[in-house]
Amino acid sequence: MTATRIDDLPLRDELRGKFPYGAPQLDVPVRLNTNENPYPLPDALVARIAERVTEAARHLNRYPDRDAVELREKLAGYLTRTTGHPVGRAQVWAANGSNEILQQLLQAFGGPGRQAIGFEPSYSMHALIARGTGTGWLSGPRGEDFTIDAPAARQAIAAHRPHVVFVCSPNNPTGTAVDAATVLALYDAAQAARPEGGGALVVVDEAYTEFSHHPSLLPLLAGRPNLVISRTMSKAFGAAGLRLGYLAADPAVVDAVQLVRLPYHLSAVTQATALAALEHTDTLLGYVAQLKAERDRLVTELRALGCRVTDSDANFVQFGRFEEADGGARGAWRALLDRGVLVRDNGVPGWLRVTAGTPEENDAFLDAVRELMKAIN
Ligand code: PMP
Repeated sequence: MTATRIDDLPLRDELRGKFPYGAPQLDVPVRLNTNENPYPLPDALVARIAERVTEAARHLNRYPDRDAVELREKLAGYLTRTTGHPVGRAQVWAANGSNEILQQLLQAFGGPGRQAIGFEPSYSMHALIARGTGTGWLSGPRGEDFTIDAPAARQAIAAHRPHVVFVCSPNNPTGTAVDAATVLALYDAAQAARPEGGGALVVVDEAYTEFSHHPSLLPLLAGRPNLVISRTMSKAFGAAGLRLGYLAADPAVVDAVQLVRLPYHLSAVTQATALAALEHTDTLLGYVAQLKAERDRLVTELRALGCRVTDSDANFVQFGRFEEADGGARGAWRALLDRGVLVRDNGVPGWLRVTAGTPEENDAFLDAVRELMKAIN
């Protein structure tokens, strides 16, 4: 009997011939390819998670708190404390990673017959989640320096009239932050392009904001009901395995995502673990300070080695340019892998992305780049 292939199945047409999202999970000594935090959770926090999860386990015969009230209260407190902008529980929603947050937003505000726009290169899941939710995808422009060119972006919004606009700041994979004036210009353009039906939703993906040199864009929420700030505990909180993302927006947006979320989507174990991590916020943000310093060191040292480096506000750095004649980004990626260092080729011609790791991991990476640059030049 021959094995059934995906294409033999009655699959949706738009999924035929497509590949799933997937950064290679290779077993190499230095893994700097998925923008994870390199520091394991501290022992005191691991112990606190065990306590909280033990307590939650006593009640696993019951469904969890469907509205994650305590967790949303604590996340609102974190946002208020770190941005200086008051955020209440009714403005916060949580899900299994910010990917699920983005998916719920597109289920509620995108979908068949609607379009979303992003300014590429950007986080590839924005387009993939659009496809998964039947939302049309529009690729908007970015400048030569990988920043958003506000007039060109406004023009694209006016021309295509998308229902959802994604702004990733700091942007993955380029590391570039977006300033408040640009976000406001895009917000106004998006509302002007859709004067009927409530305007357009603008989603600012702030997955990496804690690593930025610039403050969060969250205070822009005031008076803008169609603005959403998306966040995650995967990066700054060092808890990618937890799967906890959240958003802040007008309470009406929170009501809207509740129309599409699965009941009891956030397990009691997840909620207990996230609450424990939030109790240790200050310790975890201490690691963020170290990673920011390491990120800045990577930028400086890569430039000293003769690489071009995009200014970074994230916990990763985009570096290049690897010309086709020298094997291109793919060749450089392979050469670093051969030296035991895994970085990311996001398909941006000539450029690679490296996540800031521990000082030792970053040293190993820089040594590998030094050898690579010698081989090329
Ligand atoms: N947004 C951006 C820009 C990201 O880079 C990522 C993870 N790579 C996410 C969202 C999703 O993160 P998570 O689902 O782990 O919260």
